Amino acid sequence: LSEQIHDAEKLNIVSELAASIAHEVRNPLTVVRGFIQLTKVKVDKELHHYMDTAIDELDRAESIISDYLNFAKPQQDMKTEEIRVGKSLKEIILLMQSYANIKGIKLEHHIEKDLYTKVDPFKFKQAILNLVKNAIEATDSGSVKITVTFCEKSQVISIQVIDTGLGMTVEQLQGIGKPYHTTKENGTGLGLMVTIRLIEAMGGTLKFESEPGKGTIVNIKFIGVRKSPKEQNASKKPYTA
Ligand code: ADP
Ligand code: MG
Repeated sequence: LSEQIHDAEKLNIVSELAASIAHEVRNPLTVVRGFIQLTKVKVDKELHHYMDTAIDELDRAESIISDYLNFAKPQQDMKTEEIRVGKSLKEIILLMQSYANIKGIKLEHHIEKDLYTKVDPFKFKQAILNLVKNAIEATDSGSVKITVTFCEKSQVISIQVIDTGLGMTVEQLQGIGKPYHTTKENGTGLGLMVTIRLIEAMGGTLKFESEPGKGTIVNIKFIGVRKSPKEQNASKKPYTA
């Protein structure tokens, strides 16, 4: 048992450290990127290629941080708490809205109200964010839709991320979640690895359905509850205390 506690502590230290580093490293990356762009207009065209490569590599570093650690907070413990699923998803949608706008894609949602599940709120957001990001990146025209439904009988909350994009072949589907598996020029191939691990660690499941040229549906399931507004107020106190 003491060894297990020791391992858990080590994991906590490592993830805390990683989160702090991500926060600290982001700022200098942004500064360097800005200066390269400024310098670019003042130097020979022959050098532009090198500067573009440098910028691409900086963007790659930023992607790795965002796939892994966007929602990681320094000093964040591993505590699981009851979250309001709709609220959390709307925060993700807000965060991804400008990315969708740039690509000219509609970001739609249909979210059933008053659903709650017990997860780590930051890891939950990181996991879903990576899926929404992929859906947007796969789509050139059309829309990305996020839906949430609840089955009263089994008490299962189903979250779907649906896109009308590229889709995947059977071989591509098999590669999903393998580290560094990417079909994108500037991809990290780390997003889904992180997502799958986080969702499974929180007791959820996820499944991909995809057809080349048609699009992809990612199904995520968590055990949860629906609470009436009355119950919500009753249970609010312990969480806000
Ligand atoms: P990255 O996004 O950096 O490539 P991910 O682990 O997030 O890494 O995704 C791995 C690969 O899975 C992608 O490169 C892409 O080929 C495929 N993929 C993931 N999501 C989708 C999707 N919604 N539609 C089509 N392909 C997808
Ligand atoms: Mg990705």
